[in-house]
Amino acid sequence: MKILVLNTGSSSVKYRLFDGVETLAKGLIERIGEQGGEVPDHAAALQRVMSSVDLEGLGAVGHRVVHGGAEFAGPTVITDEVVATIERLVPLAPLHNPAALTGISVARKLLPDVPQVAVFDTAFHQTIPPEGVAYAIDADLADRWQIRRYGFHGTSHAYVARQTAELLGLSPDDAKVITLHLGNGASACAVDGGRSVATSMGMSPLAGLVMGTRSGDLDPTVIFHLHRVAGLPVDEIERSLTRYGGLQGLTGDNDMRTVQRRRDEGDPAATLAFDLYCRRIKEYVGSYLAVLGGADAITFTAGVGENAPAVRAASLAGLSALGVTIDEARNQRGDRIISPENARVAVCVVPTDEELEIAQQVTAEL
Ligand code: AMP
Repeated sequence: MKILVLNTGSSSVKYRLFDGVETLAKGLIERIGEQGGEVPDHAAALQRVMSSVDLEGLGAVGHRVVHGGAEFAGPTVITDEVVATIERLVPLAPLHNPAALTGISVARKLLPDVPQVAVFDTAFHQTIPPEGVAYAIDADLADRWQIRRYGFHGTSHAYVARQTAELLGLSPDDAKVITLHLGNGASACAVDGGRSVATSMGMSPLAGLVMGTRSGDLDPTVIFHLHRVAGLPVDEIERSLTRYGGLQGLTGDNDMRTVQRRRDEGDPAATLAFDLYCRRIKEYVGSYLAVLGGADAITFTAGVGENAPAVRAASLAGLSALGVTIDEARNQRGDRIISPENARVAVCVVPTDEELEIAQQVTAEL
C-alpha cells in the first residue's frame, strides 16, 4: 500500500512516499512564506508535493505530530475530534503542533477521501510507569497544568530498538535496549521488551542530554537566577536555553563535526563541550542500566550517533565493569556491532528511519 508521510514544520514540509518499505519519492520544501522562498504558504507547499508525486492508489497520509500529550498512546486516524485534541495540546508544544495542524488541515482538504493518520513523537513513551513520568512538585499544580514527562523521538527509539533486537537475533519482546538518539536534538531511552520505560526528554524536548542548541538538564534555579538577578525576561531565557544552549552555547557552533575539529586543534571551549556532551550520555546510560537491571544492547543512532566514533568511544569509556566495552577497530569502521565478540552488553550503531517507522505504524493502524 502506498503511504505518504508528511513532516510539516513551521517553515518547511518534508515528505516521503512509500510503497511498503520502498521509497518511491521524497523531498523537502523549505523557507515557506519567507522572502525568496519557494512557495508562499503551506497549502502551496503541499499542492506542490502532491503534483510532483504519483498518488495513484494512495492508501493513507501519515502526519508526524510532535506532541500527543497524555491523550495519544499510538497512531490515530484523524477526525475533527482528533484535530481538536491536538489543538488543545498546542500550549504544550507551541512551536511544533501548530505546523503539524496546518499540514493536517491542508492535506485533508486536498485529499478528502484518503485516511489521514497522526503519529506522535510522544506516543511510544506512554508506557513509562508513573514514577518515571511524574515530577516531584505540587500534585494539584501538575494535574491542572498537565505538567509531567512526555518524552520525544518516540518513533526513532521504537524503530531503533526493534532493529537492534533483529540485528542481534533477539526477540523484540524480550530485549532490553538503551537507545541513544544523538542528532541535532538528542535523547536517551530505556526500552524493555519493545516498551519505553524511561527517557531523557521531559515535558518538552529541552530536558536531558546536551544537544546542538539545547542545554539539556539543569537546575531550575538557573532560570530563577537569570530572571531575578540577571533581569532577563522569561521568553529570552527560554530562547537562550533552547537556541543558544548546548554545543552552540558552549562553543558558538552547534555542529558536532566543527566541535570535534576545534577540539582536535586544542580549543578549550570545544574540549569542554565534547566532554560534557559525552559525560551526560554516560550518566544516562548508567542510570538506564540500573532502571532496566542490565541491558542486552546500547545503540547509537542519528547524525552524531551514526557518524561520530569519538563520541561513541568517550560516552562509554570506563564502563567495562558493567559489561560495556567497545572494539575500537569496529567503532572506527562504523560496523553495526562495535562491541567485542561475546561482550555482555552489545554496543550497536543503527541508522534511524523515522519516516519508515511512521509509514509502518500507519499501515498497521489501517
Ligand atoms: P540529525 O538531526 O540526525 O540530522 O543530526 C544532525 C547532526 O549530526 C549535525 O548537527 C551534526 O552535528 C551531526 N553530524 C552529522 N555528521 C557528523 C559526523 N560525521 N561527525 C559528527 N557529527 C556529525
